[in-house]
Amino acid sequence: MEIYVHIPFCVKKCNYCDFLSGPADERVRQLYVDALIKEIEGHSRKIGRNQQVSTVYFGGGTPSVLDVGQIQSIFGAISSNYSIKPDAEITIEVNPQSAKGKLLEIRKTGFNRLSIGLQSIHKSELEYLGRIHSFDDFLECFIDARASGFRNINVDIMTAIPGQTDRMLTETVERVCEMGCEHISAYSLMIERGTPFYEQFGDTDGPVVGEETERRLYWMTVDLLKEKGYKHYEISNFAKPGFESRHNVGYWKRVPYLGLGLGASSCLETADGDERSRNTTSLQTYLADPFTKEESNILSRNEMIEETVYLGLRMMDGVDTDDFEKRFGVTLRSLYSDVIDDLVAQGLVYEGSGSLSLSDLGIDYGNHVFAKFLK
Ligand code: SF4
Repeated sequence: MEIYVHIPFCVKKCNYCDFLSGPADERVRQLYVDALIKEIEGHSRKIGRNQQVSTVYFGGGTPSVLDVGQIQSIFGAISSNYSIKPDAEITIEVNPQSAKGKLLEIRKTGFNRLSIGLQSIHKSELEYLGRIHSFDDFLECFIDARASGFRNINVDIMTAIPGQTDRMLTETVERVCEMGCEHISAYSLMIERGTPFYEQFGDTDGPVVGEETERRLYWMTVDLLKEKGYKHYEISNFAKPGFESRHNVGYWKRVPYLGLGLGASSCLETADGDERSRNTTSLQTYLADPFTKEESNILSRNEMIEETVYLGLRMMDGVDTDDFEKRFGVTLRSLYSDVIDDLVAQGLVYEGSGSLSLSDLGIDYGNHVFAKFLK
């Protein structure tokens, strides 16, 4: 099992962000930590120590806006209530600015992987995106992370920002690679409802820089990172060998996960099938009762099959078809014979001896391919 912990606080909302996050004062943050610990303890009575936890991921929001004592008490509650494997991957997302002076203590608490939101090395792009940190803040954070003992660091960068030239993107990618981080996530800017950018650009269907430019910048990023020795292992993720995010790979392979915190989703195995649920997205409701669910349902076999295919296809290794047969007692080909034949003929997927994966063209038309597997 994997554990995800949602910390819904940020110093300031970025212009593109539609995550469940926002600023909150110290009193609310402490109330949240108290509610979260209550939820952690409550679920453990149900799940107990029966399941080994292979990864823990503190995401958000920005977990580093909490003070170190709060992070320690949340992690302490998890480690004393669940069976975390000795070699578990334990990640925390941080913002270069709010992480200042906290990393050594965070490392000592047990976190062994750091994910730093940088997005760009350029001041103009950081300002445009509404980020609160500078590139110098990032450098300081990265150096501090290494000095604190972090040997597994992800850096988030962003492509397809309006005004981003090839040179600017190349400089960001090259500078991040020079730092020697083990993992890079590179996402294209998309305009999401309810964000300041949505007010500015309205209902855009796709990237604001246009589909063609976005694709060109995407492939430029892929090529640069491959040249620098990073393995392109998922549509938007790159890692040095052996540093693929175990937490995210688990998600794409449908390892059961327990989501804790505001709006967090879980997918856990039950006697009736996989149970998908989502916590309330109302902070007030969560603070009053952290066990309030917004939705909960048992997935049908068909839903599990569809998820296995479209999540699996996100990874460059694709869906493991032998594993699929073991899980569902039927071959992927027998279920989707015509779909697979069509997609292979169009050059969108490869069918290997034990896998089905996207081609480069298939990556460009990912959503079209995924939709073909939904019945
Ligand atoms: S720091 Fe991350 S979670 Fe917070 S507003 Fe910015 S993008 Fe969203």
